[in-house]
Amino acid sequence: MDDQVVPYLFEHASIRVQVVRLTRAWQMLHRSHDLSTGATHMLGRCAAATALLATTIKFEGRINVQLQSDGPLRLLLCQCTHELGLRGMARVADAADLSEAAGRDSLQGLAGKGHIAITIENTREDKRYQGITPIMNDSLASSFEYYFDQSEQLPTRLWLAADAQTASGLMIQRMPGGDTREEDWERAQRLAETITADELLGLDAQEVVRRLYHEEDLRRLDGRPVRFYCRCARHSVSAVLQGLGEAEVQDILAEQGRVKVNCDFCGEEYLYDHVDAAALFADGTPQQGPDRVQ
Ligand SMILES: [Zn+2]
Repeated sequence: MDDQVVPYLFEHASIRVQVVRLTRAWQMLHRSHDLSTGATHMLGRCAAATALLATTIKFEGRINVQLQSDGPLRLLLCQCTHELGLRGMARVADAADLSEAAGRDSLQGLAGKGHIAITIENTREDKRYQGITPIMNDSLASSFEYYFDQSEQLPTRLWLAADAQTASGLMIQRMPGGDTREEDWERAQRLAETITADELLGLDAQEVVRRLYHEEDLRRLDGRPVRFYCRCARHSVSAVLQGLGEAEVQDILAEQGRVKVNCDFCGEEYLYDHVDAAALFADGTPQQGPDRVQ
């Protein structure tokens, strides 16, 4: 079944394998984005990696994965809740030509100098943790591997692939404790390295694991469903407009007859006419909390 993260454990070593294959959730995520092929595929790989990250780390709230670079791909942003509600967006420099072969995990030509910031917002404790990772080897997967190594102290390998229909990822991790022999970990990596982008896109989790580890003893655990979820809401947009100030909002109204705000993630359109705008500033105080649109 698609749109889930499926974990497997080696029976005789503390090694975890996770496979994610997003189809409908991924198509929903990017359908409102008008991106070039290359940027769409990057966003898909980022979405798959973010879903894998969210099932690996213990948190209650959400995870932000934000790539910023001075290359044509200015910004990649994926967010995932602990319930695996996923959304994402990308911003590309004007006139950038970002075409590339489907599935290839390379940032070469897309991102220049830059970094990936991974922020974990624990809403229950109202705490934020942030790890900053340089873009490694022109690859999103390498950058995530570096993050796991540095921030989570979990030796991790990751393979990502995406096209317009499917966003997939394979992750293997050497879990703390246990009696994993070095040769077991090396063998698990060697076998995983034989996976191709076409296989990641075309096979489901069970087929991927069978293809790589048919000679090993692995136990399948319950999969966790991933869905597209955007938390934008009119009251958040209202709070942003209130933050802009009455004069600014009146200027836009005078110029355009209405205020139109589109969600960067899902494309939802929020419209405010004169009456709505007047209501925003009726009592002089924000009507809702300090939520931002994003
Ligand atoms: Zn939205």
